[in-house]
Amino acid sequence: MLRTLQYVFTFGCQESLQLLSQRRDEPLSRLETWALRLHLLGCRTCGRIDREFTLLESSMRQRTDRALQLSPAARRRIRHAIEQRLMD
Ligand SMILES: [Zn+2]
Repeated sequence: MLRTLQYVFTFGCQESLQLLSQRRDEPLSRLETWALRLHLLGCRTCGRIDREFTLLESSMRQRTDRALQLSPAARRRIRHAIEQRLMD
């Protein structure tokens, strides 16, 4: 219990930024989730960074989706162009 309280009370922007990044790859523990939520309630900077992460992630996902919608002919042309550049 003491460790939990110590973790929550010493939780700062550095820990917040690490968890904001980490939670995009893997789920956080319950303690990490609550410490992060508590920190985000009082820290505008980390809240803004979290929104920017979300926008960036959304933008990257849209670009990936568009890339997946390329026709086979377009993919062949792109692959051919890349191979030509690598040969030069
Ligand atoms: Zn912060």
